[in-house]
Amino acid sequence: MTTSTPAFIQGSKKLLIDGQWVDSASGQTIDAVNPANGELLCRIARGNSDDVDRAVAAARRAFEGPWSHYTPHERRKLLLRVHDVIMDNFEDLALIETLDMGAPLARTRGYKEWLSQLLQFYASQTGSATVAATPMSIAPNFTALKHLVPVGVVGGIIPWNGPLMGMWWIYGPALATGCTAVLKPAEDASLTTIRVSELMMEAGVPEGVINLITGYGAEVGQPLAEHHGVDRIAFTGSVVTAQSIVRASAGNLKRLQLELGGKSPDIVFADADLEKAVPGAGMGVFTNTGQVCVAGTRILVQREIHDEFVKRLADFSRTVKIGDGREEGVQIGPLISERQLDRVMHYVELGSRDAELVAGGQRLGGDHAKGYFVEPTVFANAHNNMTIAREEIFGPVATVIPFDTEAEVLELANDTPYGLAGGLWTENLGRAHRVSQGIRSGTVWVNCYGVIDPAVGFGGTKMSGYGGKGGKEHVESFLYPKATYFNIG
Ligand code: NAP
Ligand code: MG
Repeated sequence: MTTSTPAFIQGSKKLLIDGQWVDSASGQTIDAVNPANGELLCRIARGNSDDVDRAVAAARRAFEGPWSHYTPHERRKLLLRVHDVIMDNFEDLALIETLDMGAPLARTRGYKEWLSQLLQFYASQTGSATVAATPMSIAPNFTALKHLVPVGVVGGIIPWNGPLMGMWWIYGPALATGCTAVLKPAEDASLTTIRVSELMMEAGVPEGVINLITGYGAEVGQPLAEHHGVDRIAFTGSVVTAQSIVRASAGNLKRLQLELGGKSPDIVFADADLEKAVPGAGMGVFTNTGQVCVAGTRILVQREIHDEFVKRLADFSRTVKIGDGREEGVQIGPLISERQLDRVMHYVELGSRDAELVAGGQRLGGDHAKGYFVEPTVFANAHNNMTIAREEIFGPVATVIPFDTEAEVLELANDTPYGLAGGLWTENLGRAHRVSQGIRSGTVWVNCYGVIDPAVGFGGTKMSGYGGKGGKEHVESFLYPKATYFNIG
């Protein structure tokens, strides 16, 4: 092990409501567990609808209070202070994330530069809530002011697969635009959101502007989604939960942003540079132990290179070092929980019946038996109608499917209810252009996979949801246009 446990990891953590750290209304807690060894790290508060009520009321007061008079410049300064305090504490944050959700330090530490860019991007967007004077055609003595104004209280609900990053898709645009937020992390990985919220209060975020309620989906997420004091929900998670949120939002017609799952195609043409395509497509599935919404889990390979590609991918998968994320050189950690492990092993069993298992497929035993580790797994010669090609596994499981022609591969790529991402590997520029245009998804990568620029962003279509993250449009989705007409004659 290369690191010692941060002092933060001890005792019981509280909820952040109106700038105060308080116990949950029920007084109950949930164990925060290290998925690499099943050991208790500390306890988090088990919030409920009473806590949600208090947090939403605080967020509303803050929204209508002095925070509403912050100028774009003041919000920019605040975001830059937040940036600095997060960067100063980043080593601890990376370690807390690794302990709580299992991703290796190589990954969590690697977020640093990206997060720095993301926070600076949001700082650069505080002028989005702008005013434009518009000359009017109806009469010379009229003019109109077009404001983009903050929508109000935003409820953020995020999953466990990377809260150190995922939380900023809510806190970042909320601070940039003058909204306020109530964040509900997944109970399986809440610790970094707690530590980050502490640091944000130290950086001077006003009371009530951010609130954090840990707990279960049914006890915190659902009341937040139903709450009439919440104006917008920013949700990342599964389709089933999203559908429940859509229903829950009907009461006050909340605005929604839904970032859901995928079964993204990653297409390898016979003319691809396999030196790049094999590790690129491989890590496009295995990274973060496959717990990535944009994972390129359906690898569509042109038939003439299918066997060669599969052999190389299987060899590559055996070089990927699995283990406790604190160990040197580890590339993938455990799955988040026993429940997730069971789910992944169920799909491995289904896949073994339908397709050819060419690598992995085993849970790790020995020293790793207490954690939720599974080997990077490759299925070959699969069909697009098999369950392992249709359902999101959210584990390190690649399904390789052969194809013959460009037209056929586009049909296969789009034959999925999802539309989050996709990739392709080719040395032919014309083909890269044609095929990337033909994939119906929010993001496509050509000769790379998983790269995301904060200023460009990503998002989905079809059952992968709507409302992208990152980019100017994302910031503007925390605002709504308001026109004021003046008779100045
Ligand atoms: P999930 O069950 O939908 O959970 C996501 C969040 O919703 C958690 O905080 C969860 O709370 C909460 N929740 C559960 N039930 C709820 C309800 N009835 N009302 C409101 N909130 C509720 O998703 P998951 O299985 O943990 O996460 C994996 C999924 O997220 C995958 O499908 C993946 O593709 C997707 N994902 C998408 C993106 C993206 O950007 N598109 C990024 C990452 C992950 P608890 O878990 O605490 O109960
Ligand atoms: Mg945990």
